[in-house]
Amino acid sequence: MDKVRIEEVQSTTKKQRIATHTHIKGLGLEASGRALPLAAGFVGQAEAREASSLVVDMIRQKKMAGRALLLAGPPSTGKTALALGIAQELGSKVPFCPMVGSEVYSSEVKKTEVLMENFRRAIGLRIKENKEVYEGEVTELSPEEAESVTGGYGKSISHVIIGLKTVKGTKQLKLDPTIYDALIKEKVAVGDVIYIEANSGAVKRVGRTDAFATEFDLEAEEYVPLPKGEVHKKKEIVQDVTLHDLDAANARPQGGQDILSLMGQMMKPRKTEITDKLRQEINKVVNRYIDEGVAELVPGVLFIDEVHMLDMECFSYLNRALESSLSPIVIFATNRGFCNVRGTDMNCPHGIPVDLLDRLVIIRTQTYDVADMIKILALRANVEDLVIDDESLAYLGDIGLQASLRHAVQLLSPSSIMAKMNGRDNICKADIEEVKALYMDAKSSARLLQAQQEKYIS
Ligand code: ATP
Repeated sequence: MDKVRIEEVQSTTKKQRIATHTHIKGLGLEASGRALPLAAGFVGQAEAREASSLVVDMIRQKKMAGRALLLAGPPSTGKTALALGIAQELGSKVPFCPMVGSEVYSSEVKKTEVLMENFRRAIGLRIKENKEVYEGEVTELSPEEAESVTGGYGKSISHVIIGLKTVKGTKQLKLDPTIYDALIKEKVAVGDVIYIEANSGAVKRVGRTDAFATEFDLEAEEYVPLPKGEVHKKKEIVQDVTLHDLDAANARPQGGQDILSLMGQMMKPRKTEITDKLRQEINKVVNRYIDEGVAELVPGVLFIDEVHMLDMECFSYLNRALESSLSPIVIFATNRGFCNVRGTDMNCPHGIPVDLLDRLVIIRTQTYDVADMIKILALRANVEDLVIDDESLAYLGDIGLQASLRHAVQLLSPSSIMAKMNGRDNICKADIEEVKALYMDAKSSARLLQAQQEKYIS
């Protein structure tokens, strides 16, 4: 691999998995750290939110290194919501990567590889670029000057040696062969006035005054034209990517733009191979950028739900990974009490080996009462743009109490479709009753299975 590219990449954060939490905007705390009854989309669960706020402080003070957080509590008690809230309290650009323990089991990819990928999805990189535009006159330089200004490339153009004289003296800009090609194409000659766009010191584009200058004038708000010969500045450009985005962007088959290679890309599965070697290369470039002050690491939050699904191999990997300087904040969640560590007969709290458990800060979540459930359901209806009356909300609240909050939340969308089918825009109790009869929640499905055991193959 010759060059690592840092480019505009679509973040591959698993958006769909956090879709049901779009109403969560933080932990909803007062400045003192107390939980407000309803704030930032959060309802109730005050103790857990306050405990989480302390964790946020510890993370900020870098006191969580080598440790992790465990959220333990019954299903649908807001564990995922709390983890997301913590990530948002840490900053709006802090990556949040949710995964489920069972995701590590795949016939194609090693368990530790899946964990590693998710670790890298949870580590952000904030890249700061300083774009500048120089305006100057092309001058004839002595061979020594040319050598220093152009890094040696100047020699390849025998008749015109390019230097850029600004009022501050000859500008030392790093030019590469493509820029020289562009200069030749532009038929730049000594005495011409040209523009050079540089990005954090490296030349990106060159142009003749007329066309180029007009183009820049279009962006007059960003470029502040200074007297001729000086730097035309552009503001700092900040880009947020994750380490996984960089891995993926650099692993993608590069292929040309011609029809054949485009076809080739379509026929081949778009699976990309991210090797250890590639990751090491990316780390090297990232470290260099950090040293040069061009980039800054933004450790995010890796949320591993159903942690009891992991086995010893994963736990020992995690033990090691938590020690690494490139580690995100890891938040585990489980709704299990004592159970065997998967694949062993070791009975441990939450199915987590005691040596890892020892490193964990544990926060418990409590079940909601019906009033809180109704408030949460009203919040969800609001973000999903659904009109629902109080009677229906109360009915859904009861369903939440009997089945689970998640089930009640999930009935909102089908109920709104049912309402439309019944010729209305607003959800009524009757719509929910119809939908409830169609879908079973986990608890009643289990009851039914038990009652009709003889009809099923066991
Ligand atoms: P599981 O153990 O099944 O993974 P969980 O404890 O992670 O469940 P969530 O998925 O966070 O539960 O909660 C279910 C739904 O209720 C989500 O849409 C979540 O955003 C919402 N929710 C849960 N608790 C709260 C709360 N306190 N305030 C607002 N919304 C909440």
